[in-house]
Amino acid sequence: MIGILETLGYVIVAGTVAQMALGLYGTWRRGYLERRSFAAEARLFERRVELSLRHAEAERDLAVNSWSGFRKLKVVRKVREAEDVHSLELVAHNGRPLPRYLPGQFLTFQFRLPDRSKPLVRCYSLSDAPSDGGRYRISVKKVPAPEGAACDPGIVSGYLNDVVREGDILDVRGPTGAFTGDPASDQPIVLIAGGIGITPLLSMLNAMCDGQTEREIRLFYGVRNRDQHAFAEHIAGLRRLYPTLHVVTCYSRPTEACVLGRDYDRPGRIDLALLRDTLPSTNYLFYLCGPAPMMESVAGGLRDWGVPSEDIRVEAFGAATAHRQPTERPAAEAKPGVEVRFDRSGKTLNWDGSAGSILALAESNGVALESGCRAGHCGTCIVAIKAGAVDYVAEPAVVPEPGTCLACMAVPRDRLILDA
Ligand SMILES: Cc1cc2nc3c(=O)[nH]c(=O)nc-3n(C[C@H](O)[C@H](O)[C@H](O)COP(=O)(O)OP(=O)(O)OC[C@H]3O[C@@H](n4cnc5c(N)ncnc54)[C@H](O)[C@@H]3O)c2cc1C
Repeated sequence: MIGILETLGYVIVAGTVAQMALGLYGTWRRGYLERRSFAAEARLFERRVELSLRHAEAERDLAVNSWSGFRKLKVVRKVREAEDVHSLELVAHNGRPLPRYLPGQFLTFQFRLPDRSKPLVRCYSLSDAPSDGGRYRISVKKVPAPEGAACDPGIVSGYLNDVVREGDILDVRGPTGAFTGDPASDQPIVLIAGGIGITPLLSMLNAMCDGQTEREIRLFYGVRNRDQHAFAEHIAGLRRLYPTLHVVTCYSRPTEACVLGRDYDRPGRIDLALLRDTLPSTNYLFYLCGPAPMMESVAGGLRDWGVPSEDIRVEAFGAATAHRQPTERPAAEAKPGVEVRFDRSGKTLNWDGSAGSILALAESNGVALESGCRAGHCGTCIVAIKAGAVDYVAEPAVVPEPGTCLACMAVPRDRLILDA
């Protein structure tokens, strides 16, 4: 009997001790988890403050140290990134520091090529995160002639890929552009890149991942196949490092050498079906850069899916978008069958909507107009308006003075007389 009572006593004591131990462990664990989550939150907060300060510093640096006109930058490194794509790294020719920039911005270049009577102006996005070293990088894809067209391939993209060498000096305007994001924000972000449209998005991605990131980032990257897959290794490296970065790579024309699951994740192009299939909700900021048809269909699809317009940011790479594609809004805002008079050239033409922009109308009828980026960024095609008014097919980045217009983005609202 005593033995039984003794055993019972031991059991009760052991039970009590175990209960106390469990209680203590629970309290310790709760405290540990709270401390850990507090430490994680503190780290995240510090990181956001750091990014925010860096962003503000870049804005200040740009405002104070950017330059007007063209400055001489030297090509210090040229790297092949993929078939027909090269990156060029640039520093100031005079050795002075270059200002920081905001990820997503671009540079404007002026080229005086031996066989061209007039300088050519082109824009190229900065393709890396801003660095303290004051080094800029652009990545340029050679533009072929349109299929079946009897014309030369892209002049400047060919020149930068095939002719420019390390040590060469280029004329460059300071970084600019509004296609930028707030790197300190923790709002989940979706980057959608088609082909060389990866450049401004890669700059943003690198800036967000610079050091660490806990932000949910989803990159959708569409290219033709492995040969055209620029920055594949770099992006794969980031993907391994950052668990909150999700990448979906689409190959529209995979070759036999392309391995699904190793080189790419999906066959085909990026479309709304893929986004709906992959994203758990619409609660993201969307940044798009790529060929005009992809951007138009994806941006339109996102709006139909319920994404507010202010959460969809788009960068157009110029010529293809404003020059040869039918304009987005002229039919709604400008009446077809409008007379446009190029006063100095003595030509009166009829704009019927199919011509595209005023620049395109002029070019296809032998009226010489200066042009540069063809996307409303560089201001080269500004023309004085003598009578009439214009509408813009999309918001131009450069706001022309009253009484002038950006011919690459403008369509006539009514009868127009231009000083050209
Ligand atoms: C903000 C911005 C950022 C950009 N960032 C980048 C970037 O990071 N990387 C990049 O590679 N590009 C970028 N671009 C595009 C770049 O600026 C150039 O438009 C591109 O390199 C083509 O220039 P090009 O001189 O080679 O072609 P162009 O000589 O202007 O020719 C363009 C196309 O028109 C065709 N063409 C020529 N003449 C005719 C004709 N008479 N009729 C019909 N077609 C004709 C050519 O064959 C070619 O297909 C950016 C553009 C903008 C506006």
